[in-house]
Amino acid sequence: MIRVSKPVIAPAALSPGAGLVQSLIDDAAGGIRSGASNEPFAFDRGVYAHASVKAALRAAQFDKCCYCEGKIGAHSAGDVEHFRPKTRTRQGPNEVLVYPGYYWLAYQWANLFFACDQCNRVGKRDFFPLGVPANRARLPTDSLAIEEPMLVDPSADDPRAHIRFNTWIPEGQSERGRETIRIVGLDRDALNDDRRSHYKIIDVLAQLLALPELENDRAAAKALLLDFSGPTAQYSAMTNDCLAAHGISQAELQ
Ligand SMILES: [Zn+2]
Repeated sequence: MIRVSKPVIAPAALSPGAGLVQSLIDDAAGGIRSGASNEPFAFDRGVYAHASVKAALRAAQFDKCCYCEGKIGAHSAGDVEHFRPKTRTRQGPNEVLVYPGYYWLAYQWANLFFACDQCNRVGKRDFFPLGVPANRARLPTDSLAIEEPMLVDPSADDPRAHIRFNTWIPEGQSERGRETIRIVGLDRDALNDDRRSHYKIIDVLAQLLALPELENDRAAAKALLLDFSGPTAQYSAMTNDCLAAHGISQAELQ
């Protein structure tokens, strides 16, 4: 995971979201969702997952998943992911479902990311664990600031402060990092395998840089490593940790 920097201005296609949320709030105030009803609110996918919204997210994330840094285009269409789940939420597997979810954030630019289907649909799903579950915001007027989310926000937080790599294996540097790895499944077997293949290349290139007799080939190795370690590259966080383990800085590759 690396930090996602989205354009400050939200795509215009999200504008109808404010009105859609107001009608959900009116429904809730009108008691439609009072009592024991767990009937979910309806959301307009045509707004939050509008082609222009998806395109803006894909561009900001260099066509990579906001969690695993896997390139998405080649293998799946990818999902517009709600960091705070819109429909319903829960602390973790086997925990009680909380209805409704963060419905008022369904069309909020800050709450939207681009994720692969494995991280989004198999891993994170509707989980949004909090340090203190009783602090969960349940209404648009409730404070998000006191929530203490246990998942690392790809944009508001610096993911590199929470998750680092030991070879191709992600390691939590904080409780939140460990929880993010666990909930999203950043250590799943298929992902570890994919990262391992990538790691072996980086590792060999880094070793080549240290061989004095390869003076003439060093520029080519550096150029490749620079490519592999930039923010547009797949698994760039792991690559940078591998380079650091070899004592190679980004500046040395320039
Ligand atoms: Zn992913």
